[in-house]
Amino acid sequence: MIFAEWKPIAELIEKLKPYKKVLLAGCATCVAECAAGGEKEVETLAPLLRMALQKQGHTVEIVTATLDKQCEWEFVEQLAEQAAEVDAIMSVACGIGVQALAERFDPKPVYPGVNTSALTIREEAGLWAGRCAACGDCVLGETFGYCPIARCAKSLLNGPCGGTRKSGKCEVNEDVDCIWNLIVERAYERGQIESLAEPKRTKNWSNSGHGGPKRVIREDLRQ
Ligand code: SF4
Ligand code: SF4
Repeated sequence: MIFAEWKPIAELIEKLKPYKKVLLAGCATCVAECAAGGEKEVETLAPLLRMALQKQGHTVEIVTATLDKQCEWEFVEQLAEQAAEVDAIMSVACGIGVQALAERFDPKPVYPGVNTSALTIREEAGLWAGRCAACGDCVLGETFGYCPIARCAKSLLNGPCGGTRKSGKCEVNEDVDCIWNLIVERAYERGQIESLAEPKRTKNWSNSGHGGPKRVIREDLRQ
């Protein structure tokens, strides 16, 4: 899921203080799972912001709404009436939701209430770990199900690097497994270590996001 967390309250009130009425918009999907932008967090954050603004001498009315998804236009449309009545919107959805609101409700100012940081899995209570960098050319079939793009500090396609620790941890962070160590171990366990002997195929980075905006087209779904 997409992981995000609240921006510092001081940063949020800086954005909101010029306005009289603001819509705080949540999303009941990923950001609800990571307790950043679901209905519960929206209803918690709204009074916090109101009080923080009040303390600085700004009276800002904050109305709230949480959509099932902020990344789908039919749900975004549900905010139309409320959006028309406010001076600005703060979205606590991921960056996709924020951009959807900014596009639909232009020229209304739309601000992010959270920092979106990774595509993650919850490893344990309160701990999310990145699993995918949405690189556009998945190599998991060649790396025994471990992602070297998101989980190696150097995104190495052929590893491990010379710095991997004897403990099996990454040279960059000793609290983190060297993912290439795990890939090699799994290759041994499956009797397929020879598959790692040759350098990996050339990876297609054209849809990785480094070369400009991504566009993904499914011709079979186009009308
Ligand atoms: S190889 Fe690319 S698409 Fe596959 S899990 Fe890693 S980052 Fe995601
Ligand atoms: S130690 Fe392993 S995970 Fe860390 S940078 Fe080197 S190959 Fe990547």
